[in-house]
Amino acid sequence: MNRKALSLLSGGLDSILATKLMLEQGIEVEAINFVTTFCTCTRKGCQSAARTIADQFKIPLKIVGLQEEYLNMVRKPKHGYGANMNPCIDCRVMIFTKAKAYMNEIGASFIFTGEVLGERPMSQRRDAMMLIEKESGLRGLVLRPLSAQHFEPTAPEIAGVVDRNKLLDIKGRSRKPQIALAESFGINDYPCPAGGCLLTDPGFANRMRDLIKHDSLSIEDARLLKVGRHFRLSEKVKLVIGRDESENSVLDKTFKDGDIILQVRDFPSPLAILRGEGSTHFMKDAAAIVASHTKAKESPSCHVSFRTFPNESKDDILINPASREALNTLRI
Ligand code: SF4
Repeated sequence: MNRKALSLLSGGLDSILATKLMLEQGIEVEAINFVTTFCTCTRKGCQSAARTIADQFKIPLKIVGLQEEYLNMVRKPKHGYGANMNPCIDCRVMIFTKAKAYMNEIGASFIFTGEVLGERPMSQRRDAMMLIEKESGLRGLVLRPLSAQHFEPTAPEIAGVVDRNKLLDIKGRSRKPQIALAESFGINDYPCPAGGCLLTDPGFANRMRDLIKHDSLSIEDARLLKVGRHFRLSEKVKLVIGRDESENSVLDKTFKDGDIILQVRDFPSPLAILRGEGSTHFMKDAAAIVASHTKAKESPSCHVSFRTFPNESKDDILINPASREALNTLRI
């Protein structure tokens, strides 16, 4: 067994510390970072957080985007969901399986992660971790430097490639040990402190469930779930309304053929997209909902202008803003 290992580097503090511990032991480290549509890193995204750390540690980094294949797994995960729409076990199996292939490609002999036993309810339970290892064909080859003392020795420990005595026994949800360890290493700035995944967010999960139920989960649709207020007008038709200028500008870039774009006339108005087969039949409903998100809701009626994308035919309609009850019924 050689002294080369692959780090699953998310850019979060745990994976940074795990990487640092391995480098301290003189292990030759390369890193891999997986990015999905559902990452919520707040600054410049997981990808650049991992890049920043890899550059600091002077280790090679491969970034892998997970798209359709990941979405298919989210649609129907073999091991089900956690508290929301997070298919953590299947997600980790997919990531570990891909990491294993890359480990072999670069000639590394094991992978390591920043996982901490008991830190996350679904994917970091002992039974789940063992299952993930087994299903990804990595039994005994996944080292968890932060929690290693709570597990049986892994192959690199048994082979003496890694000194088990220098591995840690962190366990549970408190972040204090990690923060203390970061301080001891002089690591003060972690680009993506907690990381995160929209699939664990209850509001986002509702919108995902709605898409899956209506069988329209594409990458584009999933991206659109990140912005705006969403309304279900029929089996096939949805309305999305921007909540502020930045969301309006995101919506502005997501138009696709057949979309109807609505804005209230004569009042400051958000941008709204009406999308789906037969959406023209829902123009009035959509216009009433958009109007109720502007000052026009205080008027008995108002004009809402609309245009179709991409040929931009324009018109407007006179409607009565929707009532609060109507909004509550249709909101996802
Ligand atoms: S929280 Fe999201 S990214 Fe993390 S394991 Fe679960 S599904 Fe995967």
